Amino acid sequence: MRYISTRGQAPVLSFAEAMMTGLARDGGLYVPEAVPTMTETEIAALAGLHYEELAFRVMWPFLGDTFAEDEFRSLLAKAYAPFGHAARAPLVQLGPNHFLMELFHGPTLAFKDFAMQLIGQMMQAVLSKSGERITIVGATSGDTGSAAMEAFRGLSNVDLFILFPHGRVSEVQRRQMTTPSEANVHAIAMSGDFDDCQARVKDMFNDFDFRDGVRLAGVNSINWARVLAQVVYFFHASLALGGPQRKVSFTVPTGNFGDIFAGYIAQKMGLPIEKLVIATNQNDILDRAIKSGAYVTDGVKPSISPSMDIQVSSNFERALFDAYGRDGAAVSALMAELKSGGFHISQGALEMLRSTFASGRCDEAETRDTIRHAFTATGEILCPHSAVGVKVAEEHLGAAPMVTLATAHPAKFPDAVEAAMGTRPALPPRMADLFDREERMTRLPNDLSLLQNFIRERIAN
Ligand SMILES: *Cc1c(COP(=O)(O)O)cnc(C)c1O
Repeated sequence: MRYISTRGQAPVLSFAEAMMTGLARDGGLYVPEAVPTMTETEIAALAGLHYEELAFRVMWPFLGDTFAEDEFRSLLAKAYAPFGHAARAPLVQLGPNHFLMELFHGPTLAFKDFAMQLIGQMMQAVLSKSGERITIVGATSGDTGSAAMEAFRGLSNVDLFILFPHGRVSEVQRRQMTTPSEANVHAIAMSGDFDDCQARVKDMFNDFDFRDGVRLAGVNSINWARVLAQVVYFFHASLALGGPQRKVSFTVPTGNFGDIFAGYIAQKMGLPIEKLVIATNQNDILDRAIKSGAYVTDGVKPSISPSMDIQVSSNFERALFDAYGRDGAAVSALMAELKSGGFHISQGALEMLRSTFASGRCDEAETRDTIRHAFTATGEILCPHSAVGVKVAEEHLGAAPMVTLATAHPAKFPDAVEAAMGTRPALPPRMADLFDREERMTRLPNDLSLLQNFIRERIAN
């Protein structure tokens, strides 16, 4: 299995190399040269498997010779053991033909645990064979950073530094980043906002002396290994609802297009999916693009579903690559246009995208109404991101069962949930001591060389 860049100018890599590299050298994103497919009979044979065994069968064809079979099974076992639910991604019913897939039973209560827990194990396994050590630096608005701290803490070949905007993440998110006590993970509370944090991480990747000196790697949502881990739960839900004999639809609350792109890969592998619905909050560049064909940036408007507050949607480039017939030069040209504000998707590409994806948006008042209504109608407490999904899903219900992805636990966003429905959601019992654990973080200014010095000093110890 070989991986190619969406811009066509970067070296062709193996799975392990694509995972360690993250972003391609030509600025593009890695995708499989050809997506492996399964027949309906092969998919039907997966029904009833444990989540970890299903993950093994779905992911194995993408991995090449990276791991031995037993080795990969043991990495999956370690990755998902800390989950608080035996089914890993259980379904609950919201209405006659509408289901919620709860992706928030991982150690940091958001769907990012599914990919991050596994990429931590996979990176450690690859590095321990070569004896190498890497430094991972990431910026977060909350969920990615907490998932990464939890996944990488205590791993012997990785140092992890997470930059988060000081005072701008929820208390639960901050505590999840600042309470792990292992010496290889570091939470940095930086002055500025999320964009400043992200800009400093980009600066570090563009500083080649620093990049090579500390052996910098990334685990943000464009990493192919993260997308691949998320493909599994689309199979899991479909098989539970009568797939592959029966088609199932999915609605995915999305920002960077990572999760919904995983659904698209599941469909390309042969999973019968009726509709893939993109659900955005008021930061609706994706909904506007599907409806009008114009992919135009519009500034970020902070919302009560902050993990979807994006200006551009980085993984959308992967969908564009397919929509443009896998023409790397065409994708490069679009991305150059995007720098000056946006581009128009060609008619042929737009038809391909519309035949695969439907879309909808949900504003702030609608998000709060949906949290309230869902609780009254079903007793289910939705986080604001999941509420965006549920509202848009309700506009797309049809004959096929609809599965909406619940991307975070409501207790991760207690203020927004309380404002919507009047009660404050409680943390699951296994996390109830989060507020008693000791915090450890470093306050640093928005200054590249100070940040780089801090990282160099810490990895030397
Ligand atoms: C990251 C995140 C999203 C958006 O996921 P993408 O893969 O970027 O589309 C949605 N909800 C929550 C809770 C998240 O943490």
